[in-house]
Amino acid sequence: MRKPIIAGNWKMYKTHEEAKRFAAEVRGLVPDAGQVDAVICAPALFLEQLVTETKGQNLHIGAQTMHEEDSGAFTGEISPVQLKDIGVEYIIIGHSERRQYFNETDESVNRKVKAALAHGLVPIMCVGETLEQRENGDTNRVVQEQVKAGLADISAADVQKTVIAYEPIWAIGTGKTATAEDANTVCQVIREKVAELSGQESADAVRIQYGGSVKPANIQELMGMEHIDGALVGGASLESESFLKLLEAG
Ligand code: PGA
Repeated sequence: MRKPIIAGNWKMYKTHEEAKRFAAEVRGLVPDAGQVDAVICAPALFLEQLVTETKGQNLHIGAQTMHEEDSGAFTGEISPVQLKDIGVEYIIIGHSERRQYFNETDESVNRKVKAALAHGLVPIMCVGETLEQRENGDTNRVVQEQVKAGLADISAADVQKTVIAYEPIWAIGTGKTATAEDANTVCQVIREKVAELSGQESADAVRIQYGGSVKPANIQELMGMEHIDGALVGGASLESESFLKLLEAG
């Protein structure tokens, strides 16, 4: 049985004060670790504070991007070593906004997934098609290629620790969700690809999230699907009340 994983992606939202308030509002209310893995992926500025403010609870902290090198002359970047050092546990890699605006490629995603695993961070590796690709009937091919490239040269043991987030780009922040059936179908395609690349044991173990306009009103249906093990949630993760409702569905 795969444990559900619900992750909030705060993107470039919140002030220091708002992040602090969120941590205070969820304190003591996060379901325990037996039920769901709960994660908040916050702006880098708030990571250390959130690690401290959520200590002892089943609320894990993740970053939204990182550099693949351990250290070096990379102005503005943050390394996996630095994230690990302050207690960060998860890292979103290859979010479509990073691919679109910050030139991330399947190759850089693969390097970053490897770097995350090498340092004991759990990668949440994002894949997903554009609207045009979907309309052309290319969805399966696109996500299969992203999965294959992203997981290239990664051992089965490491693949099993990785979380894959299927996020159709046309559903992100648009209010349009893939139907639960469509999302499940693509998550199944991803799982079958993992089986082909890394073996059935990896495919059975790897957790696949759906992302794209997930909210309390639709999460239950999505989570009821066989191949959907969790959600990566942007907008609806920003308010503590809504985030806690998402966790209840996990
Ligand atoms: P959304 O974002 O839930 O606001 O659609 C999801 C994401 O980008 O991870």
